[in-house]
Amino acid sequence: MEKNSPKYNQAYDWLRNYSQKYTPYKWLYKIGFKNIEQEKITYFSSRYGLSFILILSALFISYIFKFYPDKSPFYMIYLIFVVLSAWHGGFKTGIFTAGAISTGLYFLTKSIWQYGLGAGLIPQLTIFISSAIIISFFVDLARKTNEIKKLKRQEKVYAQKFLDLHSAYTKAGDEIKARDEFLSLLSHELKTPLTTMLLKLHSMLNSVRSVSLANFSVPELMRVLNNAEEQIRWLTAMIGDLQNISLITTGRMRLNIEDVDLVAMTKQVTQNFSELLKRGKYKIKIEANAPVVGRWDKTRIEQVVTNLVSNAIKYGRSKPINIKIQNSGGMGKFIIQDQGIGILPKEQKVIFGLFHRTERSNEYKKGLGVGLYITSQIVKIHGGKIRVTSSPGKGSEFTIELPIKRKS
Ligand code: ADP
Repeated sequence: MEKNSPKYNQAYDWLRNYSQKYTPYKWLYKIGFKNIEQEKITYFSSRYGLSFILILSALFISYIFKFYPDKSPFYMIYLIFVVLSAWHGGFKTGIFTAGAISTGLYFLTKSIWQYGLGAGLIPQLTIFISSAIIISFFVDLARKTNEIKKLKRQEKVYAQKFLDLHSAYTKAGDEIKARDEFLSLLSHELKTPLTTMLLKLHSMLNSVRSVSLANFSVPELMRVLNNAEEQIRWLTAMIGDLQNISLITTGRMRLNIEDVDLVAMTKQVTQNFSELLKRGKYKIKIEANAPVVGRWDKTRIEQVVTNLVSNAIKYGRSKPINIKIQNSGGMGKFIIQDQGIGILPKEQKVIFGLFHRTERSNEYKKGLGVGLYITSQIVKIHGGKIRVTSSPGKGSEFTIELPIKRKS
């Protein structure tokens, strides 16, 4: 057995555990084997242990059945023992077994059976040892080839494991990097509106305190308050997103299921964007023949629709947006098409991940790259699916499918 091969390590572990339990090493120490390393004893006993057993059995069989080497084809039987030893411990172990059996037989034959040396004992033993050498050589060769095959197989498994670990490591590294970028983006996004708001309120307070009331401008105050309201809304939404991410990643998002009409809800959501749409002078068209009612969490699905509509507006280059809602084979289907900047195929694969933003999105509007992650996770928790098709420069189409009935 090769040192450090898995089989060797296994045998070593076994023997070490065994020795710790039954302390045979203590006995060895007592009889003077103090300076021998435990590892060497283990190696030796694992390599020659089987040989010893086979040698003793061979001699025992010979003694019981009175096998005279020249009268019986004894080498045929004992060669099997040699083959076993060589397969277990290699070439040297095979030779060792053959030598020990021959020596044992030589003395047994001479002393117990009083058998003369001239009657073919030496030629028989010579034939036996010669065949044992040849057989051990080939058995060892076959054993090594077998071991190499096994090692190659193992190497493949390890290589695959290494690749898996490497890609997991790279993925974890990317995720940490994305998280770090997200944190810096987040702190920036949180700080900027607060600083602006604080500055404006400060100057407003100053003018109220130090300037005469005649100079106080109500429209200016209204402008500051409106702006503050908008910023607070944006900050609240951002903090809401963070709370949702934490609920999703820790598996604590609970659904409050009720009957929800997807069509009515979408109309309500688009209504919330009406100011923005009016300012941009573009339209959202909703195509739906009948209500599509399903058992969903109203607030969460509203969040999904809001995210998709908000993205279509953000990245839609002020062109018309089209929404289709239908009941399709037990699924509530929601399709939103825009004619905006579109998404590159390689980016389509990652936009549903946490903190992923496409390169071009920064040119457009600010965002944290978490909306689609939350959206896709809410859809998934409802047992639904989300997908995107898009041609860069022409527009994008997001489709969600939600099971109308819940599987309980
Ligand atoms: P963000 O806050 O950046 O909008 P999202 O998770 O909502 O985060 O979207 C992730 C990215 O996917 C965006 O940065 C944007 O690049 C891209 N994206 C999402 N919706 C659209 C769309 N309708 N058209 C083009 N790109 C989109």
